[in-house]
Amino acid sequence: MDYPGNLFVVAAPSGAGKSSLVKALMELDTLVQPAVSHTTRSPRGQEKHGREYFFLSPDEFDGMVLRGSFLEWAKVHGHRYGTSKHAIEERMAHGADVILEIDFQGAINVKRIYANAVLIFILPPSWEELRSRLQRRGEDSAEVIELRLENAAAEMAQSREFDFVIINELFERAVFDLKTIVHAQRLKFSAQRRARAETFEALQIP
Ligand code: 5GP
Repeated sequence: MDYPGNLFVVAAPSGAGKSSLVKALMELDTLVQPAVSHTTRSPRGQEKHGREYFFLSPDEFDGMVLRGSFLEWAKVHGHRYGTSKHAIEERMAHGADVILEIDFQGAINVKRIYANAVLIFILPPSWEELRSRLQRRGEDSAEVIELRLENAAAEMAQSREFDFVIINELFERAVFDLKTIVHAQRLKFSAQRRARAETFEALQIP
């Protein structure tokens, strides 16, 4: 499928700073748009239906799976999460660059469908830093933190499947790295030809 927009997929173990980085990127670059995922987990804190996620019952989620509405879906930490095909394709068709913040299984599945998708993995600078970020966040019990660290080892091993890796040591540097990846992708021949089809045609470049 050939859309004028690009598709970026960001994955990371929890605590690596994925959401803050993506948020900072979107503030700097309004051409990059998020796609709101669907989930069967309940809203946390101030989360709103349609903003952070579309919160669905298991039956509603099953319905979407059966109708083939998901580009991909996966079970993460005991809940199901899915990316709607329609939301992404509509934005990309209008020339927007879409960014997905999903888990590594989802990222790899997206790449199987969109070979052009750019997979970006965010790593923490060390185990100590990952542990202390999870502790500072104060969202999880000591037991859950240990479980997240255990999962992180398996998740980080998957980073070799990704196109790019950012080590989130200094936040500003990591935001710059993410911006650079987005910019470089836009300048690739294939992306330029999709985004500027008329210019290429006028210049008679096949
Ligand atoms: P949380 O419940 O903390 O918001 O998210 C838990 C995990 O699910 C995170 O790694 C998040 O990136 C991932 N996730 C969120 N939406 C999706 C999705 O649509 N598909 C997949 N595969 N993972 C998702």
